[in-house]
Amino acid sequence: MRSRNPARDKVAFIAETAARHDIALRIGVNCGSVDPALAEKFDGADEPKLEGVTAMVESALEHCRYLDDLGFTRYVVSMKDSDPRKVIEGNTRFAAARPDVPLHLGVTEAGILPDGVIKTRIAFEQLLSRGIGDTIRVSLTLPFAEKWREVEAGKQIIADIEAGRFRSVPVFQDHGLNIISCPSCSRVENEAFIDLALKVKEISAYAKEYDVTIAVMGCRVNGPGETDDADLGLWCAPNFVNLKRGEEELGAFPYDTVLDRLRVELDDVIATKKGGAVTA
Ligand code: SF4
Repeated sequence: MRSRNPARDKVAFIAETAARHDIALRIGVNCGSVDPALAEKFDGADEPKLEGVTAMVESALEHCRYLDDLGFTRYVVSMKDSDPRKVIEGNTRFAAARPDVPLHLGVTEAGILPDGVIKTRIAFEQLLSRGIGDTIRVSLTLPFAEKWREVEAGKQIIADIEAGRFRSVPVFQDHGLNIISCPSCSRVENEAFIDLALKVKEISAYAKEYDVTIAVMGCRVNGPGETDDADLGLWCAPNFVNLKRGEEELGAFPYDTVLDRLRVELDDVIATKKGGAVTA
């Protein structure tokens, strides 16, 4: 019999199918794409730096309850964001509430090397050293042929933690340019996205002192939502790149001209933050 809760119905369908085929499930919640009803309910519940963490944790707990009520126990939870502080806070809170549920750790859309590994290391060092986390995923923007570097980075971080080599845990910078980009997956429609992410870093290097976030996403499925928190967001289609400033969509640009427009917008974002004009 169908309930009045469509989300619960969908979970029940998936759980029944998984149980029939002896398959385990992962409950995956991203800070940037949490259930809109929960996002609204917990709007303002967190300090600005951790915005969205409460909604993310509550969403994960809610889905655990759905599965618990169905008697389905073979599941793990993953709560991800591109900001390691939110990953640390979300997983710490969840582990306190549900220590019985295994956690899959990851910093999603961590970016390109070396920044992506630094962000991931910050989160993993702080969580794994406290016994939080059971499996990991390192997400980096890399050409398909170099995806093995994600595994290599993950193994290195675990080996360092195990050996007590915490290096100097880099404090995630509150200040300065922050470029995030997605790890890329089968939804990427043009591999030029990888090159674009590298070029964005290159052409925006002059802005490293400014508190600006630029997000570069590989597809049209998650790109629009996952760039919401950035000052400037780009997401890729087969023949063009969408550009957004804050929540305002600026249009679609060919791959070979989007960087010119990005540069213009970046200058303006900096000038607005400074309250004056900028010369690069
Ligand atoms: S291509 Fe799209 S779905 Fe895949 S990792 Fe990037 S943003 Fe996420």
